[in-house]
Amino acid sequence: IKLSAQSLTALPDTVAKPRYTLADLSAGIVHFGVGNFHRAHQAVYLDDLFNLGADHDWGIVGAGVRDADAQMKAILGRQDYLSTIVEQEAGGTGVRVTAPMVDFLEPGDAGAIIAKLADPAIRIVSLTITEGGYYLDAAGAFTQTHPDIVADAANPEAPKTVFGLILAGLKARRDAGVAPFTVMCCDNIPHNGKVTMNAIAGLADLIDADLAAWVRSSVAFPNGMVDRITPATSDRERKMVAEEYGIEDGWPVFCETFKQWVLEDNFPAGRPVLEKVGVTFVDDVSPWELMKIRILNGGHAAIAYPAALMDIHFVHEAMEHPLIAAYLEKLTRDEIIPVVPPVPDTDLDDYRRLIAERFANPKIGDTIQRLCLDGSNRQPKFILPSVEDRLKAGASVTGLALVSAFWARYCYGVTDSGAKIAPNDPNWDRLQKAAIVAKDDPEAYLQMKDIFGAAGENPAYVKAFTHALKTVWDIGARETLTRYIQNTL
Ligand code: NAD
Repeated sequence: IKLSAQSLTALPDTVAKPRYTLADLSAGIVHFGVGNFHRAHQAVYLDDLFNLGADHDWGIVGAGVRDADAQMKAILGRQDYLSTIVEQEAGGTGVRVTAPMVDFLEPGDAGAIIAKLADPAIRIVSLTITEGGYYLDAAGAFTQTHPDIVADAANPEAPKTVFGLILAGLKARRDAGVAPFTVMCCDNIPHNGKVTMNAIAGLADLIDADLAAWVRSSVAFPNGMVDRITPATSDRERKMVAEEYGIEDGWPVFCETFKQWVLEDNFPAGRPVLEKVGVTFVDDVSPWELMKIRILNGGHAAIAYPAALMDIHFVHEAMEHPLIAAYLEKLTRDEIIPVVPPVPDTDLDDYRRLIAERFANPKIGDTIQRLCLDGSNRQPKFILPSVEDRLKAGASVTGLALVSAFWARYCYGVTDSGAKIAPNDPNWDRLQKAAIVAKDDPEAYLQMKDIFGAAGENPAYVKAFTHALKTVWDIGARETLTRYIQNTL
C-alpha cells in the first residue's frame, strides 16, 4: 500500500496510526534539516503529544537549504508528509506512522521561507543541520569569514544559509512588531543553543549592530540534549517496510526504542506541553549534555575507527568483538567518566552500561560507516574537550589519544586488510594528505589546529598521540587494542 493520508485506514493493525485528525493540525514550528534524526525524535514526541489530544497548533513545517532537503520534500510530499517509524530493540519491534508535519517549504525559496518565519503562528524554529552546519572553528567560535556567511551578510534579503534565513525571519518580525520565535537547536553540540545564538547574532554583527544586539537580548535559544540512535535509511529498510508491513514508504526511519530529550525551559513565545510525553525540562542542561556528548557520542567516535580498520560493518558486530567492547569500557571508565561532572539522579556507570547495551542492539542496523562520517567535525566536539579537561587535571590521555590516532590511521584511506576506505568527510582530501604524512611523522597530523586546538601543542598529548599512531601502524588495530586493554600500550 502506498503510504498516504487516504490509505492510513487500510494499513495492517500491527502498524500504529495517528489518533488525531490530520486536518486539525496547524503550523507552530518551522524545522530546518528534516533528516532521519528529526523524524525519529522531535517529530515522534510531537506525534505522541498530538495522540493525547493536546496542542494541535504545534504542527511542524519542514524547511532546509540543501539538495537533500529538496529530495526529502519531494518524497514526503508524495506521501502527505507521513513517516513510517520502526522502533527496534532485541525484545521486539514497534511500527508506527506519524503525521506531525503539516507542510514543507521549498528549499531555495528564501522569500517563502522568510514569510513563513515571519508568521506569528510560528513560535519555535528548530534545527538538526548536523554538527558541521554551524561554521565553528576549533575553539568553538563562529567563523564570520566563511564565504557562505560573507555572502549572506552581503545579501541579507536573499540568504542561502539557515542562519541567514532565520535572521531575516527574526528581522521581519521585529519590523512588524511581532514577538520573536524561540530558536531550538537539536544538534549534538555542547551548549547548542548558545552556539546557534552565536551563529545568528554573529551573522547579524556583519549586517546591522542594532539587530545583532536585539537578537542577543530578545531571542531565546534554549540549550538541549537530544538522544536516539537513528541510522540512515537504505534500500534494506525500504524493502523491510514493504515486505513486513506492506507499506510503500519512500523514506522510512529505523531507530532504537530508547529516546531522551532534556531541554532548558526558556520558551517566551510558548511551547508544546512536551513534559506530558517524557521530555525533561530543566534550568541548566549542561550536566546532561556533557554526559551524553562525552560518553555516548565520544563512545561512538571511539569504536568507529578501530572497527572500520578491522573491516567490521555494523555497530552491533563491533560490540560483539571482545576487544572493542573492552576498549570502550576501559576508555569510558578510566578517562571519560572522571571528566563528566555529576548529573542529577544519574549514576554515570549505569549510564555507561546503558550506552554499551544500546550500541549492542542487534536490530537497528546502525553502521560503522555512519559513525565514521565527518570525523573532522566530531573529534573536536566529542573527544578533544575530554582531552582538554584531562590535560588540565594532569591526568593521562593514553586512551583518548588512541581514539584520535585510530581516526588519523583511518583517514589514510585503507583498512588493516588493505581494503579501500571511501571518502567520508567534507574535509577528506585535507585529512588524507595529513594522514599520509602522519604515517611517518605522526605529530604532523596535530598541525590541523582547527581540529586539535591547544591539545595539539601539549607535550603530554603529542607524546601519547605519536606513540598511539606509530603503534597502530606497526601492529594494526587489533594488537593495539589488546595492548591498551592490558595496560601495555
Ligand atoms: P541526516 O543526514 O538524515 O540529515 C541531516 C540534515 O541536515 C539534512 O536535512 C541535511 O540537508 C541537513 N544539513 C546537513 N548539513 C547542513 C548544512 N551545512 N547546512 C544546513 N543543513 C545541513 O542526519 P540525521 O541522522 O538526521 O542527523 C542530523 C543531526 O542530528 C546529527 O548531526 C546530530 O547533530 C543530530 N543527532 C542525530 C542522531 C542520530 O542518531 N542520527 C542522534 C542525536 C542527534
